[in-house]
Amino acid sequence: MEDENSYDYVFKLVVVGDSGVGKTNLMSRFVHDTFDFASKSTIGLDLTIKNMVVKNKRVRAQIWDTAGQERYRSITKRYYRGSVGALLVYDITKRESFATISRWLNELKINEAHPDSIIMLIGNKSDLDSKRKVSQQEAMDYAESNGLMFMETSALESINVEKAFESLIVNIFDKISTKLA
Ligand code: GDP
Repeated sequence: MEDENSYDYVFKLVVVGDSGVGKTNLMSRFVHDTFDFASKSTIGLDLTIKNMVVKNKRVRAQIWDTAGQERYRSITKRYYRGSVGALLVYDITKRESFATISRWLNELKINEAHPDSIIMLIGNKSDLDSKRKVSQQEAMDYAESNGLMFMETSALESINVEKAFESLIVNIFDKISTKLA
């Protein structure tokens, strides 16, 4: 049997964005395929592991959740240290959560340790299109001008969640393995 503790690469990913945008549910949708309507984060750092195979290599993604620290507007440096990828999440129905993206992006840039880090902007809650306050075009333009990947997701309806995490991981893999080659 394959030893689940053996892997070729380990990638640390962080998930940031305002409280309530759906970070915890995006992670649990991707890692466990579940959605928790009453999710309430505890204060501290949470870490989830997802093992994947990318181009015949075993990749272990360590996905870190702020677990509520963002409510206090201060996330420890330890959270970002060594990360090679980030999901930068806003809620498409909350203008304010998009407005704070540049602050999150700045924090990531100041703290991230890895120069090859890849960042994906995520507009979550795409199932609530009738309450939309941020257009796809606006987010796409922002992503393009800041060198970010972009996708809209719904953790609730399981739309694009796997695709978002997987394409982020594959992009990191491609960037890192090209460098090592
Ligand atoms: P976090 O604070 O960023 O970790 O956000 P949570 O994952 O705890 O989610 C905050 C709230 O948004 C919860 O009430 C979730 O049920 C809800 N939520 C999360 N993702 C979605 C989504 O894709 N669609 C909808 N409609 N609600 C969502």
